[in-house]
Amino acid sequence: MKIYNTLSRQTEEFVPHEAGKVKMYTCGPTVYNFAHIGNLRTYMMEDVLEKYLRYAGYDVTRVMNITDIGHLSSDADSGEDKMLLGAKREHKTVLELAKFYTDAFFKDCEALNIKKPDVVQPATGCVDEFIKVISSLMDKGFAYLAGGNVYFDTSKLKEYHVFFNFKEDDLEVGVREGVEEDGNKRNKNDFVLWFTKSKFEDQALKWDSPWGVGYPGWHIECSCIAMKYLGEYVDIHCGGIDNVFPHHTNEIAQSEAYLGHKWCNYWFHVLHLNTAGGKMSKSSGGFLTLAKLKENGFSPMEYRFFCLLSHYRKSLIYSEDNLANAANAYKKLKAKVLSLPEEGEVDKEAFERYRKNFSDALANDLNTSLAVTALYDVVKAKDINGATARALVADFEKVLSLGLFDREEEENRESASLLTDAEIQDLIAQRAAAKKAKNYAEADRIRAFLAEKGVTLTDTPNGTTYKIG
Ligand code: AMP
Ligand code: ZN
Repeated sequence: MKIYNTLSRQTEEFVPHEAGKVKMYTCGPTVYNFAHIGNLRTYMMEDVLEKYLRYAGYDVTRVMNITDIGHLSSDADSGEDKMLLGAKREHKTVLELAKFYTDAFFKDCEALNIKKPDVVQPATGCVDEFIKVISSLMDKGFAYLAGGNVYFDTSKLKEYHVFFNFKEDDLEVGVREGVEEDGNKRNKNDFVLWFTKSKFEDQALKWDSPWGVGYPGWHIECSCIAMKYLGEYVDIHCGGIDNVFPHHTNEIAQSEAYLGHKWCNYWFHVLHLNTAGGKMSKSSGGFLTLAKLKENGFSPMEYRFFCLLSHYRKSLIYSEDNLANAANAYKKLKAKVLSLPEEGEVDKEAFERYRKNFSDALANDLNTSLAVTALYDVVKAKDINGATARALVADFEKVLSLGLFDREEEENRESASLLTDAEIQDLIAQRAAAKKAKNYAEADRIRAFLAEKGVTLTDTPNGTTYKIG
């Protein structure tokens, strides 16, 4: 697979550290509000990347943090903790707030067919690890204590601005969000590893540490959580493009200072979803959620389709008209898929040929719009039978996850519970026998009967599987 690497600013052949295995880390949400559809674009494209790597045969381990502490209202270590602000706004404790928005985030992910990472780790569960790594950075001379806080000393590094070859003077961290300079910092780009003193009094969650009672900075959590579950090397680190600086730059600085070697080879960043009016951001308040899209008559799968039509390295402009166009195309595509005839056996040669077009598109820096074109080619193809087309769509769905075979009727979930697994298996066997006898009308009837009960069948080269709902 070829993938664009923000670190080298080039599209490179992807080669993991250990043959066949991929260690993947994703910056998770800061859980002080609902995810907006821009955040969800990032998680969706990361989901496609993960699923494609699995599809291509890699054994992937993916880890995600949940930021429930330490992310201040400015990325430059100043302002109030976003979680504390959210808790005050909603009259909840910080932990109640975190639980509420973590659950809401994974509900959105489920609706969008975004797979849950293998490990999901809230930052508040790893304070011992943060303290261990910060202590080591202190011992090695990469960190210092000033004004009660522990800072990372960026002047101790051979190279700090690894992503875009920024010049020191261009990195006006504090200026980004109109915040004042922190007088404790020895160098402008130094950042906080551990806070004991901040601009406000009553941080809700605090832990004892060698430097006093306090709490960790945002950047250290991702480095430590990645190391805890993935070891000393990460193959691909993902996030939205705004994470490049300072968050990922600081992650690299502290991880490599701690480990003494290069930490992560590939950096995958998703460009933003914006509206014609500008950037969508959680803290601005004016953002669109998945629930709002549903209120406006759009389904999560239509939004997923809309996102897959664009390359992840291009900014995507959201407008209701753009989404409506994608939603119409999605409805037509799904209707075509559901009406693919039950006929014949899977033609292995044709299957491999079409599969290669699809796989090549994604292997080329995750070109999802070309992969969708490959899907259209299958649905429209005149040279393949229904069984082959169905098997190909089911195969592409392992990566695209567009719910193309799903019949949405919620009530079907209930009626489906009336059928036992044994009954469904029996009907699948009857349908296979009907197909073998070339009695396609009977096979169609059984498929339709099961669909009415909310059971969706998928034919694969290795037999038929089913899904409820
Ligand atoms: P947050 O919950 O604010 O920490 O952000 C979660 C993820 O969404 C991060 O990877 C961000 O880089 C990403 N993100 C933030 N804003 C946008 C946007 N407008 N479009 C796409 N991704 C975004
Ligand atoms: Zn992170």
